[in-house]
Amino acid sequence: MKFDIAVLPGDGIGPEIINQAVNVLKKIAEIYGHEFNMREGLMGGCSIDECGEPLPGETLKLCKSSDAVLLGAVGGPKWDSLPGDKRPEAGLLGLRAGLELFANLRPAVIYTALKDASPLRADIVKDGIDIMVVRELTGGIYFGKRGRVNGGPMGESAFDTEVYSVAEVERIARVAFEIAMKRRKVVTSVDKANVLESSRLWREVVIRVSGEYPEVSLNHMYVDNAAMQLIRNPEQFDVIVTTNIFGDILSDEASMITGSIGMLPSASLGKGKPGLYEPIHGSAPDIAGQNKANPIAAILSAAMMLRYSFGLETEAASIESAVVNVLNKGYRTADIASKGAKVVGTYEMGQLVADEVESLNS
Ligand code: NAD
Repeated sequence: MKFDIAVLPGDGIGPEIINQAVNVLKKIAEIYGHEFNMREGLMGGCSIDECGEPLPGETLKLCKSSDAVLLGAVGGPKWDSLPGDKRPEAGLLGLRAGLELFANLRPAVIYTALKDASPLRADIVKDGIDIMVVRELTGGIYFGKRGRVNGGPMGESAFDTEVYSVAEVERIARVAFEIAMKRRKVVTSVDKANVLESSRLWREVVIRVSGEYPEVSLNHMYVDNAAMQLIRNPEQFDVIVTTNIFGDILSDEASMITGSIGMLPSASLGKGKPGLYEPIHGSAPDIAGQNKANPIAAILSAAMMLRYSFGLETEAASIESAVVNVLNKGYRTADIASKGAKVVGTYEMGQLVADEVESLNS
């Protein structure tokens, strides 16, 4: 099969880790007979330096005309003093808006080989944890009506509004159920339906959509309980689907229980538009250009791209198995290294994963 991929390496460690993801994709193309047409674009600080803006029209056009976008990371101290809308991160917001990405997928996986990195106790982590948080990305309180009111009995006040329409909840619920169908077939919908009207609508709609997926079991959890259960018994979760603000908080909590930021990929999906795939970490300026960054989050982001944008499940699973095998053989980048580990650099780790993909398929 043939796919166009827009590749945006970005700043800091972005180019180093994306190079490794691209190499693994080339290996997959070679083994499975696909054609990945990878075209690079400028975004973030490097783009500000070259053409004065974080997301040039040309880059957005490139992304829109591709089947998927693979992004490294943007930002760094060099551009920190610029005004908000001129900063590298503004490019990211522009890209998300331009591609109308409404679903954010954040897996939180604790690999057996890395379970010591988790801040959770071994008897809680057991043999590993594998949760997918599906966060609604374009609605809710971050986009609802807000303002300030002067002159009330208590002085000035401010308000933000949580608003969800049936259509918005339906489309994010469908994404969650579709993903659950490819996993362990359990969806936990997180809301605050004991207090919020928007949550009551959310719950009604999720229940209705669940009727289309009789194989998936659905349960509901209040957000305060979900925050607690993620620490107490994370094993119970498969797919968590939730609103923008609750997802913002819970996806960070879920990723922190894995204990290794350099390992976590993410995807943002829209309807009928290219998806955006990127590691959850930033540009790590403290280790940029030193061959120290962990490329696994970027490599796993490429695997998510194969699965969710191209429907190449076997190829995606092959990358994920290769990562597990390399970790099981004791190889680690410095960020995840414990005593006795074989510590390798960014390039070497990428090469090890690519070689493992090859040997898994030979
Ligand atoms: P960061 O994620 O870049 O780094 C936090 C810490 O984790 C650092 O110590 C770093 O060395 C380490 N780290 C991150 N990724 C790693 C990897 N792959 N391998 C090994 N170690 C890794 O977060 P920060 O320091 O808060 O931000 C740095 C810059 O990145 C800022 O300009 C910020 O705005 C930007 N940022 C960008 C994105 C994005 O592009 N999506 C996300 C977050 C932060």
